[in-house]
Amino acid sequence: MACNPESHCTRNRAPQTRHDGPVTFIVMATEHLATLRQSIPRLRQLISHIEPTFRFDTVADIDASFITEQGFRVVLWDVDGTLMAYHAGDVDARFPLIRVLFRDGPARHAILSNCDERRFDQLGQIFPEIPLLRGYATDEGPVFRHLWHGTDTHTSEALRHIQSNRGTQIRKPSGELVRYGMRVLGEADPQAVLVVGDQYLTDIASANLAGARSAKVSTFRQDTFPVSIRLSQHLENAIYRVFGS
Ligand SMILES: [Mg+2]
Repeated sequence: MACNPESHCTRNRAPQTRHDGPVTFIVMATEHLATLRQSIPRLRQLISHIEPTFRFDTVADIDASFITEQGFRVVLWDVDGTLMAYHAGDVDARFPLIRVLFRDGPARHAILSNCDERRFDQLGQIFPEIPLLRGYATDEGPVFRHLWHGTDTHTSEALRHIQSNRGTQIRKPSGELVRYGMRVLGEADPQAVLVVGDQYLTDIASANLAGARSAKVSTFRQDTFPVSIRLSQHLENAIYRVFGS
């Protein structure tokens, strides 16, 4: 049965078939490429959701004037390759106004990253002022979590319960994660939501799956990413060149 673009089919995914060529083999060979690996079974559905609303070189172009002019009330940010170099410890010094935007800007903000649990905790320390969003697909249905001002919606015991229910991380692309961000930030209109990120198949597709708008930025400090992730980024850009407008 084909996956709906919004469904999470990783658990039921069929083994790789002979249709997967050497590129996919390389992709499957590394944990760093979990995002792309998850997207491959949904690729046919996702390629119609990869067109960004806006395109910028960097997040420096996304300022209070732009947000106000476009009527955005919520902005959901990717982190690595968007706000900073890969697994850096803070927003890059080239974007000094981002923190001002978080604190005093005309919209409410949240972080939407496909990071692992350890990085999630790190990002909670880097961005205490805005919520970090996360979701899990479990045997009992999707579970959503956020970390904000040092407070986690889930205790360690609750997280262990998620694991015991075969919980797997809901990763971008996911319209559900965007809608969860809207709920956390009290926004009902997806057109008032901007998703900012550097990847078509994760950030931009998430926005489009939720009916939100998006801003695609060039991957910041791509040289800092592991080779395996750079490979997936090049592959994704190639997919966009073939299937995007
Ligand atoms: Mg990124």
